[in-house]
Amino acid sequence: MSQSLTHEPDFERSTFIQSCAYCGARFEVLVSRLAGSDEPEDYDCPECGKRYTTQAALPPLVNLRSRRRDGKSDGYQETMF
Ligand SMILES: [Zn+2]
Repeated sequence: MSQSLTHEPDFERSTFIQSCAYCGARFEVLVSRLAGSDEPEDYDCPECGKRYTTQAALPPLVNLRSRRRDGKSDGYQETMF
């Protein structure tokens, strides 16, 4: 019985809780890192859509933990007008 090598990369997964700087929502971010394959990956606040960037090998997964606290329902605006 021969051992077959898998080509599944050995991702290093980690999670952290982030508070959105715009709306105050808290969400969990699951990041998969792989030595030599990390690059800037975007993820969005699930409540207002504000964009964040982290170093990862795959697009981060986001899980909302607590709702926004600014009492608004608008989305984050990149430009002020
Ligand atoms: Zn937000």
